[in-house]
Amino acid sequence: MALASRVTTHCRPRCLATSRLVSNYCSKNLIQYQSNQQRQFSHNSSPKTIQTLAATDAHNGSKNSESASKLRYLETLPTSDLISYLFIGLATTNRATLNLVVKLFPYIPMPLIKTFVSKIYCGGDTAGETVVTGKKLAARGINNMMLSFTLEDAEGTKNLDINHVVGETIKSIDSILIPHTESVFANIVANGGIINQAPAAYIALKPSALVANPADVMRNWQNPEFKPQWDNLVGNLSKICQHIYKRNAELAAKYPDRTAPALVAVVDAEKFELQQAVYDLQRTLFKKFNPLDKPACVVGTVQMYLKQSYDIIVNEKKLGQEQGYKVGLKLVRGAYIHSEPDRGVIHDTKSDTDVNYNRGIKYSIEDLFSGKDATIDHLVIASHNRDSMLNATDLLEKYGKASDLKYRITLAQLLGMADDITYDLITNHNVTNIIKYVPWGPPLETKDYLRRRLEENGDAVRNDNGLPLVKGVLSAIFKRLFK
Ligand SMILES: Cc1cc2nc3c(=O)[nH]c(=O)nc-3n(C[C@H](O)[C@H](O)[C@H](O)COP(=O)(O)OP(=O)(O)OC[C@H]3O[C@@H](n4cnc5c(N)ncnc54)[C@H](O)[C@@H]3O)c2cc1C
Repeated sequence: MALASRVTTHCRPRCLATSRLVSNYCSKNLIQYQSNQQRQFSHNSSPKTIQTLAATDAHNGSKNSESASKLRYLETLPTSDLISYLFIGLATTNRATLNLVVKLFPYIPMPLIKTFVSKIYCGGDTAGETVVTGKKLAARGINNMMLSFTLEDAEGTKNLDINHVVGETIKSIDSILIPHTESVFANIVANGGIINQAPAAYIALKPSALVANPADVMRNWQNPEFKPQWDNLVGNLSKICQHIYKRNAELAAKYPDRTAPALVAVVDAEKFELQQAVYDLQRTLFKKFNPLDKPACVVGTVQMYLKQSYDIIVNEKKLGQEQGYKVGLKLVRGAYIHSEPDRGVIHDTKSDTDVNYNRGIKYSIEDLFSGKDATIDHLVIASHNRDSMLNATDLLEKYGKASDLKYRITLAQLLGMADDITYDLITNHNVTNIIKYVPWGPPLETKDYLRRRLEENGDAVRNDNGLPLVKGVLSAIFKRLFK
């Protein structure tokens, strides 16, 4: 948690530049199996296995089968992943076991961790491994990814090569995202769907990972002394966005029926003291790469736990409208509540944050569907909260029924987190516009990242425990062996 950062994203196992950011991201846990929604299976593009399971679930009425159905997604996973989930279930059986595992974690040999834990939370060490992760997700009906090339530089001491981060990020667009997205397009069309049903492919950009001395530069972004470094930061993000803009133009020519963008750059939100710089950065990118005559391909982030966040959304719309560009937004609750020195900037209660999050979603969706006055043109709803996801799904149903604009709205969760919710949305709520945030890159400090994941799972362990997960995994393996 004390690690400083320069990486590309939030929950990246491997290369986190800023692990403190990351560590807060996933307060929800993959073993937190909450009550399930009534099943109304009607999905048409998810794999046959998922369809069969969901159809079976529709006949389950009892409480027991309801709780079993929460773990149904396990049956869609490969056996090697089930073994990893078994490890996580055992490690989180109760608070004491979890504490012990967290303590012993530094001494567990890396190959064991790689075999049993990493694959749940990480896309891969290389582009090739990440392509395979994309395919596995697609087989579960999760048709795209938000990629984050991550490099950890605890305390900024490793003198990371920022040009390398920029270069690898650009390469990943061509070597991972575009081939993956084109294969999803082909698959959906071959199965009688429409090309717009494929979610866009996203690249997550963490400003603090894209410049040297990020905290100083971003605190002093208006100070002329820091202008060269600030320009360098803007230049690095612009280089990546320019590549996305260019590739989008090529893909739009190749797939004229697609009205949603194929590729989108997402600027991540940082801790509060750096956010004024990030808002300015986002706007600069909106102006450059989100012209009125094209689908927006740059998305900025708003943290809805901030008291000022609703006004920020309204203001972004106003600025876009006045200055003639489109706005893309990713709405998150916010990852820094535990490290924020000025707690006063954050909503007083969780329920205030929840209400505000839903309000932000409603405002953004209504603007997106508001016809010629619309400024918000792309929306990512990034959360592991079931109610928020269902709320967004209801609004999409209400506003998006007869409009292709709905394909510019995407639901997102972190790889390995809230898998039961992702599964429920796909199988029971007909959601196709859903993706996972996938960290990938060299396994520098994977261990630290994964330990933090386990620690964060502690909250869930208080309410639930890993035993249902262990039982679910064993039952899935048993069925596989003996059916
Ligand atoms: C794809 C993706 C991208 C993300 N990108 C970013 C990013 O760029 N920047 C970033 O900061 N986060 C980011 N996050 C992390 C996101 O902020 C966390 O997922 C979120 O904090 C956890 O909330 P939740 O919506 O999953 O739901 P929940 O688990 O229901 O909510 C937990 C959150 O509620 C808020 N909260 C909790 N207690 C209180 C309280 N007492 N008072 C007020 N608020 C409270 C906090 O934000 C806490 O994290 C991202 C997450 C995903 C899935």
